[in-house]
Amino acid sequence: MNTIFLLKYGELTLKGKNRRDFENKVIRNAKYVLKDHNIEVEKIFGRFVIKTDSVNEEEIKEIGHKLSNYVFGLANVSIGVTVDNELDKINEVALEQAKKYVDKYHPETFKIEVRRPFKNMPGTSTKIAADIGAYVWNALPDLKVKLVDPDMTIMVEILEDFTIISSEKLQCLKGLPVGTSGKVGLLLSGGIDSPVAGYMAQKRGCYLNCIYFHSPPHTPQKTKDKVFALAEKLKQYQQGIRIFTVNFTEIQLMLRKTTDMQYFVLLGRRMMIRISNEIAKRYKFKAFITGENLGQVSSQTIENLHCMNILAKIPILRPLITYDKNETMEIARKIGTYETSILPYDDCCTLFLPPNPRTKAKVRQLEFEEAKLDFQSLVDRAVETVEMVDL
Ligand code: ATP
Ligand code: MG
Repeated sequence: MNTIFLLKYGELTLKGKNRRDFENKVIRNAKYVLKDHNIEVEKIFGRFVIKTDSVNEEEIKEIGHKLSNYVFGLANVSIGVTVDNELDKINEVALEQAKKYVDKYHPETFKIEVRRPFKNMPGTSTKIAADIGAYVWNALPDLKVKLVDPDMTIMVEILEDFTIISSEKLQCLKGLPVGTSGKVGLLLSGGIDSPVAGYMAQKRGCYLNCIYFHSPPHTPQKTKDKVFALAEKLKQYQQGIRIFTVNFTEIQLMLRKTTDMQYFVLLGRRMMIRISNEIAKRYKFKAFITGENLGQVSSQTIENLHCMNILAKIPILRPLITYDKNETMEIARKIGTYETSILPYDDCCTLFLPPNPRTKAKVRQLEFEEAKLDFQSLVDRAVETVEMVDL
């Protein structure tokens, strides 16, 4: 008897080549999250299934957990077992599955659902379902049969060579498989927002590379470690993650010395975009992702976001733009980045924060400030410092 995981995809409107690409990437990502388990992927009746001959309940639970929490593109996963096409065995295993489910979830009502794409057994599907139902009920008489919306559904799929019996269906992350939308650059700081923004972008099929601006010795090594720890978390959803660390110290010192401090944050952000443009060109990113939000902090007004947009050579996507801070924090907790994000180490932007940052800057004011520095050579030098690490 094998345990089998039946995968159901999220966005099924995809067709043709896109659909194949979608399927290939889901499978590749699923294999990646299950790399420590002995599994096989098979296509049965047009659907992918993952098989394991492990009989260890803990391991089976772990595989289900990983598929439902770390693979974008899956809608749900049913966990079942395979048996020979013999009614006695089917009855027995259906009862076994029901007992397990009862122990775990204490359902009051149930039904048996039979699917028989090959019509290779005598009787109608309804009759077979009724027979299995009677067998199960005989052993578990406290359960009541309920055909619409029962607490427990035992699915019996009688295929050509064997039958799959499943009782448990796990909800998955949905979205698109990581990789189907291409490679993007996540501007990753040590805060709460940008890791969540990265996760949301992964949900829409983006494969992340991270860009982090570091200002040693003003920002401690601990901040960098924290950013790398956050990237590790995001790596759980994709195969490997690359981080570009940019030394931002010279730029920040120069801005502080030369420009009007009320524009400090925005001028810094514009330098980040200029440097990111160079990295994006070399490594072929299709978009940038940031954790920016509308109106949450004084630098994030539509006017200020515009001052970034006009510099970027590729789109800046801001998955959190409409989120309340609470909503973002809830996701951060769910994906396990929150605890790391709130560690109290200085970020390069909190460091030289001016007392009265500009809320509605005009592009020409910023350009006026920038004319005071030789920003192109600052950008060039910062690009030369870029350190690339693959986690
Ligand atoms: P976060 O929680 O992600 O730091 P925030 O609400 O604190 O976001 P800001 O600090 O204003 O907002 O930063 C806005 C966005 O700019 C961040 O979400 C991130 O995408 C980018 N960013 C800010 N600082 C850095 C940095 N040092 N390195 C890389 N990206 C950064
Ligand atoms: Mg921040």
